[in-house]
Amino acid sequence: MERTFLAIKPDGVQRQLIGEIICRFETKGFTLVGLKFMKVSRELAEQHYDVHKEKPFFNGLVEFITSGPVTAMVWEGDGVVAAARKMIGATNPLSAEPGTIRGDFGVNIGRNLIHGSDAVETAQREIGLWFKQEELVDWQPTLSGWMR
Ligand code: ADP
Ligand code: MG
Repeated sequence: MERTFLAIKPDGVQRQLIGEIICRFETKGFTLVGLKFMKVSRELAEQHYDVHKEKPFFNGLVEFITSGPVTAMVWEGDGVVAAARKMIGATNPLSAEPGTIRGDFGVNIGRNLIHGSDAVETAQREIGLWFKQEELVDWQPTLSGWMR
C-alpha cells in the first residue's frame, strides 16, 4: 500500500492547525500509520531538504524548520502521495487554490504550513529519514468498506 510523509511545520503548529490538518486527511479516507510531535535536529533538517541545499532560501528554511516543534506523520492509501500534494496545494500559498491547506490558511511561501513528499520514491526516502520501522503501525480501518 502506498505511503507518504507529511510534516506540519512550526508555523502550522503555532497557528494551532494540527487538528484541522489531520482532520482533512482522516476524513478524506487515508490511514494514519505514523505520528510524532518533535523538535527537528539541524542534521535531520539538512538531510530532509538536501535537494534544496544550493538554493538561496536553504539556510532560512533549515533555521525555520528547527525553530519549534513539528508534527511528523506517515499516511497510507491508494494514490496518497499525489492526493496529499493536491490537498496541500501550491508551494506559494498565494497561488494555492482555495480548498487546499495552503490556499485556505497561508499567505507566505516561507510559512506554508505543511510538507508533503512529492513522489513515491521521495516518500520512501523521507519516511526512512524520519521514522524507525517500529514506529510505523500496520493496521486496516475496519469501517473502510462503507465509510469511504
Ligand atoms: P514544496 O514544499 O511545495 O515541495 P519545494 O520543495 O519547492 O516546495 O520547497 C521546499 C520548501 O522550501 C517550501 O515548502 C518552502 O517552505 C520553502 N521555499 C521554497 N521556495 C521558497 C522561496 N522562494 N523562498 C522561501 N522559501 C521557499
Ligand atoms: Mg518539495
